[in-house]
Amino acid sequence: MEIACLDLEGVLIPEIWINFAERTGIDELLATTRDIPDYDELMTQRLRILDEHGLKIHQIQEVIESLTPLDGAREFLDWLRETMQVVILSDTFYEFAAPFMKQLGYPTLFCHNLTISGDGKVESYNLRMPDQKREAVLRFRELNFHTIAAGDSYNDTTMLGEADQGILFCPPENVIEEFPQYPVTRNYDELRSEFEKAREVLRK
Ligand SMILES: [Mg+2]
Repeated sequence: MEIACLDLEGVLIPEIWINFAERTGIDELLATTRDIPDYDELMTQRLRILDEHGLKIHQIQEVIESLTPLDGAREFLDWLRETMQVVILSDTFYEFAAPFMKQLGYPTLFCHNLTISGDGKVESYNLRMPDQKREAVLRFRELNFHTIAAGDSYNDTTMLGEADQGILFCPPENVIEEFPQYPVTRNYDELRSEFEKAREVLRK
């Protein structure tokens, strides 16, 4: 029995922080781990900026609600969910992902969460555990499931490495170069066909 483990941002939905920054015109929020490699420092800065702009969780969610999943994402996900069980493993937060989950038909999502004060201020963030994508795949294996994982970027590579089969979706060049062992897909038709191939390999 297989479980598909899918990354969220860059695979089914656009990058939340980048799109949020563009929608709100707050350029400082365009910073990513490429600019500030220390994740805690980056998140602390993001939360400070939200606070400085007086953005409460409901306003943030309203902006996120105006974003839509990537073209074809819902159809791909619906197909995959008919084919095998699907768990989305993401480094985003439930509070940010919620508007997308509705648009994607409420798939299972494992991610992190935020601490929100009574008046809606985003006070802090809580990581479920370090490297939770890889850890989840490891636990599925302990439950005797096979896993096929797909992701787009660096933070997916430990998950891909732990899975029985790994697939890259629209990855940047540096990831392709550093991880040549994974097939590269650039649209949902290709991703679908790699999932079918991977499943065949596992069932042999
Ligand atoms: Mg991603």
